[in-house]
Amino acid sequence: MKKGKAYIIGAGPGDFELLTLKAKRIIENADCIVYDRLISDDILRLAKKSAELIYLGKENQTLVKKCLEGKNVARVKGGDPFVFGRGGEEIEALFKNEIEFEVIPGITSSISVPAYAGIPVTHRGLARSFHIFTGHTMENGKWHNFENIAKLEGTLIFLMGVKNLDLIVNDLIKYGKDSKTPVAIIEKGATKNQRVTVGNLENILELVEKNRITPPAITVIGEVVNL
Ligand code: SAH
Repeated sequence: MKKGKAYIIGAGPGDFELLTLKAKRIIENADCIVYDRLISDDILRLAKKSAELIYLGKENQTLVKKCLEGKNVARVKGGDPFVFGRGGEEIEALFKNEIEFEVIPGITSSISVPAYAGIPVTHRGLARSFHIFTGHTMENGKWHNFENIAKLEGTLIFLMGVKNLDLIVNDLIKYGKDSKTPVAIIEKGATKNQRVTVGNLENILELVEKNRITPPAITVIGEVVNL
C-alpha cells in the first residue's frame, strides 16, 4: 500500500485567523488530523467530514502508524512546530520509517503573544536582541546558566515558565539583573481569555500568587514591557 504523507504544521497562537493559508488548505484536505492541547476548535472544524481526529500530546508513533495506513496526516501544533514543539523528534520518527513529510511553519507564541499584549520584543534603544528559553525541562538535571543569562541586555522570554518562575526570578537577581527590571506574564494569549500581569523582578512572584496565574503563559522580562 502507498504510504501517506505527513504535514508538520504550526497553527499559531490562540487566534484562529493567525493560521496560514497553507496550513488551512492542508488541514481541509487531510485524512487524519493529529492535534495538541493548544489547538482551537475552530481549526478542527476545518477538517473534512470523513477525517479522523486524534488528540495527542508527546508521542510520535501514532503519526507513523496513520501514514503507514496510507492516510495523509496533518500534525497540527500550537505556535511553530520547532519552537519547543518536538517537531524535529516527529520528523526523525517519520524519516526512520521512510515517510514523506513537509513542514509548514507557524507564528510562534513567543513573539506573537507579547505582541497581542502590546509588547514589541525588540525596540530601538531598548532591546537589540531577544532570547527565548524554556522554563520547563531541566535537561539531565542541568538548569540554564543564569550567570550568563543575567548579563544579556536583550528581552528575555520564557515559555512554560510558570512553574519555575521563582527559580528564574531569583537566579536573575542573584546574578546581577536589576530587581526593578519590568516583567509581564501573558496568560492564554491571543484568545478571548487573554490576561496580562505586569510587575518587576522584585514583585512578580507576589502578583503571580495574587492573580493565580496558570499555564499556558509567556513571561517577558525587559524594558520593552513598559511600552
Ligand atoms: N510551539 C509553541 C510552544 C510550545 S511550548 C510555539 O511556538 O508557540 C508551550 C508553551 O508555549 C506554553 O507553556 C506557553 O508558555 C507558550 N504558549 C503557547 N501558546 C500560548 C498562548 N496562546 N498564550 C500564552 N502562552 C502560550
